[in-house]
Amino acid sequence: MIDDIPEAIRETAPTPPKSSFPVPAIATVFGLVIVVGGLVMFFLSPKPSPETATKTPKTETEEVASGIQSPSNKEIVESSATKIIPEPEPIDNVLGHLRYEQAKLSELVPITADGSIKLKKSAATEFRKMQSAARQQGIILTAISGFRDEATQQYLFFEVKKNRGQDTSTRAEVSAPPGYSEHHTGYAVDIGDGKVPGTNLSTNFEKTAAFRWLDKNAARYSFELSFPKNNSQGISYEPWHWRYVGDRHSLETFYKVRNLK
Ligand SMILES: [Zn+2]
Repeated sequence: MIDDIPEAIRETAPTPPKSSFPVPAIATVFGLVIVVGGLVMFFLSPKPSPETATKTPKTETEEVASGIQSPSNKEIVESSATKIIPEPEPIDNVLGHLRYEQAKLSELVPITADGSIKLKKSAATEFRKMQSAARQQGIILTAISGFRDEATQQYLFFEVKKNRGQDTSTRAEVSAPPGYSEHHTGYAVDIGDGKVPGTNLSTNFEKTAAFRWLDKNAARYSFELSFPKNNSQGISYEPWHWRYVGDRHSLETFYKVRNLK
């Protein structure tokens, strides 16, 4: 019977004493049962396989938690860390303004006759349609500003701030820091009323026929107001600043990582 058991087990099995004192056979059998039983339990006990370990990606919290623990209690930490609800991704913002990628110049097309104001092609096409639809109803929508690069925004934020003697947070309420303007995307456009240019870039623009028309019709062309009254970013109300959200890229640009309330 002992020959059927692997050598390793045989070594741990109690060997009969070499003395002439007789050992009851039942003690030997009992000892073997305990050893074999123990080994069976050991091999059958569930262990995490590498496959299942890789199937559940760790959250950031888990990695941090396990990284600072000693290997002895790593397992305990991991099993309790899975119950932690991961924090939402931190939002990359400066004074309420979100980070935006600058559009490639090759993707921009003009929306004014002199070519000085440009938008991304999809936004430009819809802006033109919106403009001519408004014109048919006697409303003149004027493009005041479209795409702006970071250098232009650098000037608008820091130089104007200096000239006006504004502190940083006051300036940020009305202007985005370079790298953080929706105008970098090529989807944002500042619109004025061609018949009342005195209201350009002013909250008085909301009293114009152009604003009333936009408020009612801009959504048909996939334009929306970026900074309505009491917006979640804490930016001043800008009735003139509209953004295009009519395709997947523009929608993702403005909404993907927007965890603001
Ligand atoms: Zn604007």
